[in-house]
Amino acid sequence: SDVGSQKERVVTEEEWLQKWEMGNIGFHKEQGHPLLQKYLDVLLNGRSGLRIFFPLCGKAVEMKWLADMGHSVVGVEICEQAVKEFFSEHSLPYCEEPVPEISGAKMFQSTSGNISLYCCSIYDLSSSIVGKFDGVWDRGALVAVNPCDRQRYASLMISLVEKNSSYLLATVSYDPNKHKGPPFYVPESEVRSLFG
Ligand code: SAH
Repeated sequence: SDVGSQKERVVTEEEWLQKWEMGNIGFHKEQGHPLLQKYLDVLLNGRSGLRIFFPLCGKAVEMKWLADMGHSVVGVEICEQAVKEFFSEHSLPYCEEPVPEISGAKMFQSTSGNISLYCCSIYDLSSSIVGKFDGVWDRGALVAVNPCDRQRYASLMISLVEKNSSYLLATVSYDPNKHKGPPFYVPESEVRSLFG
């Protein structure tokens, strides 16, 4: 009931990197997410060859699924270890290059060209750098964003999608007094006010 209890909570970039380094990544699903399978038709809406965005992507195996279906996948992840593990765990050759518009950022791209993962903060991206997307798979992303950054995150996401895009969002429902997050509790009313 008291969502306010999480309002001030901040997880720093450093803490995320530490989670990866320690292998403290309980959020990663080896088998992929059943909700993406269930709602795949909603995401695709009969379309093929989409550009699909994975914010805060970790090493989500769903990126491989969608690429194998012929879509073009773009992800962003602050942790380089996660990005490298994604490519190595799927035995995908890749190349690595700097992103001229973002100091310190790198882009890792599968040799086949259909998976591009930006290693930087999502807040460094803009549509002039990554273009616009037809679909979004937001799992462990909005709910991982610090509550104080939610508005900024949502505005950015809105700026990155095409008019006729589909946005699948997975959230979790629980008592925010019993867990400090992440994942943070994002009630449906807030999802509505963020995304309109
Ligand atoms: N969506 C993934 C990972 C969820 S955990 C999945 O479903 O498995 C959230 C991820 O976001 C972590 O891997 C963390 O390193 C990354 N992250 C946190 N803050 C970020 C930021 N500002 N920009 C990009 N990635 C970020």
